[in-house]
Amino acid sequence: MASHPDEKRHIVIIGGGIIGCTSAYFLTRHPSFNPKFHSITILEATAIAAGASGKAGGLLALWAYPPSIVPLSFRLHAELAAEHDGAKRWGYRSVQAGSIRAKAQSDRLETPKADSGTGSAEWNKLPKQDEASLKSLEKKGIPEDLDWFIAEGLTEYSSIGDADATAQVHPYQFTTSMAELAQEKGAEVKVGAHVDSIDYTGGHVKSVTYMDRQTKQIHTIPATDIVVSAGPWSSHVFPDIAVDALRAHSVTINAHVTPYVLFTDIELPKDFGAQDGKKRKHGRRVNPEVYARPNGEVYVCGEGDELIPLPSTADLVQCDPSRCQDVVDYVSSISDELRTGEVTAKQACYLPSIPGSSSPVIGGTGIKGMVVATGHSCWGIQNSCATGKLVSEFVFEGEAKSAQVGAMDPKIYM
Ligand SMILES: Cc1cc2nc3c(=O)[nH]c(=O)nc-3n(C[C@H](O)[C@H](O)[C@H](O)COP(=O)(O)OP(=O)(O)OC[C@H]3O[C@@H](n4cnc5c(N)ncnc54)[C@H](O)[C@@H]3O)c2cc1C
Repeated sequence: MASHPDEKRHIVIIGGGIIGCTSAYFLTRHPSFNPKFHSITILEATAIAAGASGKAGGLLALWAYPPSIVPLSFRLHAELAAEHDGAKRWGYRSVQAGSIRAKAQSDRLETPKADSGTGSAEWNKLPKQDEASLKSLEKKGIPEDLDWFIAEGLTEYSSIGDADATAQVHPYQFTTSMAELAQEKGAEVKVGAHVDSIDYTGGHVKSVTYMDRQTKQIHTIPATDIVVSAGPWSSHVFPDIAVDALRAHSVTINAHVTPYVLFTDIELPKDFGAQDGKKRKHGRRVNPEVYARPNGEVYVCGEGDELIPLPSTADLVQCDPSRCQDVVDYVSSISDELRTGEVTAKQACYLPSIPGSSSPVIGGTGIKGMVVATGHSCWGIQNSCATGKLVSEFVFEGEAKSAQVGAMDPKIYM
């Protein structure tokens, strides 16, 4: 049900990742938002974009999933970039996505360190390409401007859609910009504010209690509306929704290269990483994703793992440098540009997903004033804008207006 425009509202957003920040942005741009009557506060336990939202690749694609929100979100990304100079501010640009097959060049490959632990197991791909997008792969000759790979090693190139169907942002810059743009219209951002509990006794939200991690003081603030958008930590603050967390490592490398986002299939030498010393018929295949960015860096992400459970806060996420080094070594074995570029970041983060679903949950919970938006898996950057817009509609109009999201109703999973 839509609320009366003069009704006082205290909207509290839990989590300052991309979902919390786009929610704040679209709430401040909703026609019913009136800063005289409505307050919006983001409570973020660590720092804005401290989790996956600051460490993701940043690919946007019309062939992403779920189809009920992808086109809306893709369009909103383009509109926001046009309105706020996203090209400059967060590296928005259209980009060609493709997949390559390549053979690692032994003379460019370091011997794996004994402790990397990734020597022979099958690569655990992040589930970015669903069946439909795999079907849309179109085998082509190697494009002339894809000149940053060692020609002898590059055996195949397939494009995924055309460049109109794919774009990219720098996720950290985009997320922090969304927070700043929301603040410009009156939203408040509290960082280092770890939410400990939500009071929703009596079937409607009343308050949120958080700890200021610097002073260790506990604060309780009133809330008429709560948006649970704490990514993989969402179930820590609202246990009625289960959220899985998958760790993934990534690196950034300084290299000025042509604009491609590439899913790779690299065949390592037969004896590489074989712990039993035996020669195999084929080398192990590894699949790092490689994203050229307009700021002269290339982002590369590795495989998913479940070796270390999600820690209590984003600043405690453990990064295993040997896993990052593996990824650097793999791409170095097929590209001299990446081999000689300076590695500027080695990092890890957790992907949030809803058990048994490839879609996020977005919507009301049956508890008056409680909206949940989480579980965006591999496509949270792409689907952030639609999610933020829908959250603003759930809060101010009581229902989704811009897309049909009944299948993502959190109540199905509670
Ligand atoms: C390696 C990798 C590559 C990816 N590449 C892409 C891509 O190319 N395109 C794409 O669309 N998606 C991509 N994704 C997915 C995307 O990054 C995620 O879906 C998205 O970032 C999730 O955003 P979120 O805001 O829900 O969660 P998060 O980014 O995890 O944010 C949650 C926030 O909540 C805060 N928080 C947690 N607990 C509390 C608490 N108790 N109180 C207050 N705050 C709290 C955290 O500190 C954190 O800042 C990728 C993900 C990974 C891991």
